[in-house]
Amino acid sequence: MKFTVFAAALALGVTAAAAGASAQDKGTIGIAMPTKSSARWIADGDNMVKVLQAKGYKTDLQYADNDIPNQLAQVENMITKHEKVLVIAAIDGTTLSNALQAAADAGIKVISYDRLIVGSGNVDYYATFDNFQVGVQQATSLVHGLGLDAGKSGPFNIELFGGSADDNNAFFFYDGAMSVLKPLIDSGKLVVQSKQMGMDKVSTLRWEASVAQSRMDNLLSAFYTKKHVDAVLSPYDGLSIGIISALKGVGYGTKDVPMPFISGQDCEIPSIKSIIAHEQYSSIFKDTRELAKVAANMVDAVVSGGKPEINDTKTYNNKVKIVPSYLLKPVPVDASNWKPVLVDSGYYKLDQLQ
Ligand code: BGC
Repeated sequence: MKFTVFAAALALGVTAAAAGASAQDKGTIGIAMPTKSSARWIADGDNMVKVLQAKGYKTDLQYADNDIPNQLAQVENMITKHEKVLVIAAIDGTTLSNALQAAADAGIKVISYDRLIVGSGNVDYYATFDNFQVGVQQATSLVHGLGLDAGKSGPFNIELFGGSADDNNAFFFYDGAMSVLKPLIDSGKLVVQSKQMGMDKVSTLRWEASVAQSRMDNLLSAFYTKKHVDAVLSPYDGLSIGIISALKGVGYGTKDVPMPFISGQDCEIPSIKSIIAHEQYSSIFKDTRELAKVAANMVDAVVSGGKPEINDTKTYNNKVKIVPSYLLKPVPVDASNWKPVLVDSGYYKLDQLQ
C-alpha cells in the first residue's frame, strides 16, 4: 500500500515535472500584430496566444500601433531573444527584409500571418484566407444588393475604395472585386462617376477610416450633388463606417435618399450592428479562430522539423519566392445570415450585437 502511494506520488511528480519541462522546452513564439485599433487583430492575437499556449508554447504578443519602426523594433527584439518561431502580420509587408535575414541567420523560422511579407526569401510559410475570393464576394454582394444578378440593368452609380497599398492583400481584394465589377462597368450597367479606378487612385493608407471618410466627402461633393451613389465597394469594415458617416453627413439613409449598398470585411461588431440596422449592406467573415489554428499548426510543424499542411503553392509570389500557403475560406455575411454564421458558430454572443 505504502509503496503504491509512494509510487503513484512519484509518478505524478514525474509527470508534472515532465509537463513543466516540455512546456518550457517548446519555447517562446513571437507574435507581431499590426494594431489594436481594429478588433479583428485583437481577436487574432488572443486566439494565437490561446492555441499556442494549449500546445505548450510560451508567447510574446506585440502590437505596433500601425507604426512601422515600432513593429520592426519588436521583431528585432524577438530575434535578439532568440524566440523559436516568429508569426508576423506586417504593417508594411516590404519593410522587414533585414530583420528577417537576421532571423534566418539565427535559425528562426518565420510565418507570415494573414498578410504576405514581400521582398524577402526568409518567409517560410503563409497562413491566410483566399484573399482574391474575399474581393469576389464583396463585389458579388453589391451586385446582388443592386439586383444586377436578378435582371436589373441599371445603370447604377458605384464608387470604389481599396485597402492600404503597402498591404499585399489590398491588391488581391481589389483584383477579386474588379473581376466581378469590371465587366459590368464595361457594359455600362455600373458607372464610376468619379472615374477613379485602380489601386493607385482608390487605395486607403493604413486602412484608416478617417482617410476613407474624407475621400467619400470629396467624392460626394464633387460628383454627387445631383446624382445618387448606389453602391460603394469598401474592402474593410472600418472604412465602411467612415464612408457611412460621410454619406449620413449629406443626408443619405432616409426613404428618399437611401444608403448605397456598401460592402465590408472582418465582421467587426459595429459593422454587424450597422448591417442589422440596414446601413452597411454586407461584410466578410474570416474566422480568426481557424486562422490561429492553421498558424499554430505551422509553428508546431516547423519546431518539430516537419512540414506544415499547406493547400496552395502557386498564388503568393512575394517577389523573391512563392510562399507555400494555407488558404482558409472567407464567408460573405449580410442581413440574411449574420445570425447563423456569427452567433450559432459561437464567434459572437447575441447580446454583443444588440
Ligand atoms: C486583412 C483584412 C483587414 C485589413 C485591415 C488586411 O490585411 O486581411 O482582414 O480588413 O487588413 O486591417
